[in-house]
Amino acid sequence: ACQFGRVIRVHGLYSMVQTADGREVRCAVRRLLKSLITDERNIVTTGDRVWFRPTGTDEGFIERVEPRSGVLTRASRRREHVLVANVDQLLIVISLVQPSLKPHLIDRYIAAAEQGGLKPILCLNKADLADRTELQPLIGSYTQLGIPVVLTSATTGSGIDQLRELLTDRATVFSGQSGVGKTSLLNAVQPGMALRVKSVSNVNQKGRHTTTYAQLVAMEFGGWVVDTPGVRQLQLWDIVPAEIQGFFPEFRPFATLCDFPDCTHTHETGCAVKEAVSRHQISARRYHSYLGMFQGTLRD
Ligand code: GDP
Ligand code: ZN
Repeated sequence: ACQFGRVIRVHGLYSMVQTADGREVRCAVRRLLKSLITDERNIVTTGDRVWFRPTGTDEGFIERVEPRSGVLTRASRRREHVLVANVDQLLIVISLVQPSLKPHLIDRYIAAAEQGGLKPILCLNKADLADRTELQPLIGSYTQLGIPVVLTSATTGSGIDQLRELLTDRATVFSGQSGVGKTSLLNAVQPGMALRVKSVSNVNQKGRHTTTYAQLVAMEFGGWVVDTPGVRQLQLWDIVPAEIQGFFPEFRPFATLCDFPDCTHTHETGCAVKEAVSRHQISARRYHSYLGMFQGTLRD
């Protein structure tokens, strides 16, 4: 009989599948399945939910892959490459101080989450070093968009229970600049977690498909952390300027009212988005992030 599991990493032709009871089973992909899927590289990817037939205690072959959702892809020169499937959310770790808060960067990460179909969560770390009262307008502008905001300190432990709750039973990609506290936060939610993520990465580096595949690392309280060097410094890729407004959901109700149907909300007359900004219905800070990203794509 077939068993159910989750692909936690891919080594060349084999996939490591973890079962609900925590066993790791090395699985090959059945030839029949292979012939059904044209893009060989994306047959089975990290995060896939699969049914496999055991051929021993820790070996088997994959018979069926469940349909994917929340796929994080990277467009290479010739085609889209699935980095990881069935990821739920993007944890955007931002440092309030050292390195200092850069709001436009938050908006870039949110746009990347939108592009990948991931739910963004904003984690403002190093709260122990910041003045919380000054943060209220910023926090308000994101909670208004329906984005959960958690204020944490990996040092004092404040906000860690709330963060753990947001991670429970979900597959979460940790993102954020170097030095913001991703490693410290991982260890705060589960002692030793950062080392586990790192050691899995090191094992995988001996394989051939090193940087192209992500890994899932299970957390004791339920849920997964997704780690890949490429995803940690998440970037927007292959974006055309006209797509950017799609990553600012709060523009949508106004954009339909602009005079020009192809309005870019930059220089046009009769732009309902710009009017909404002047009436404070859209955050001016978010609008400026949009302008920066729009102009950035023109420069490339
Ligand atoms: P990463 O590069 O994102 O993994 O960041 P690290 O977890 O390595 O943290 C970078 C530095 O910030 C280290 O010196 C940490 O001790 C420090 N740090 C991390 N979180 C906090 C925090 O909440 N408060 C303070 N004061 N320092 C922190
Ligand atoms: Zn407009």
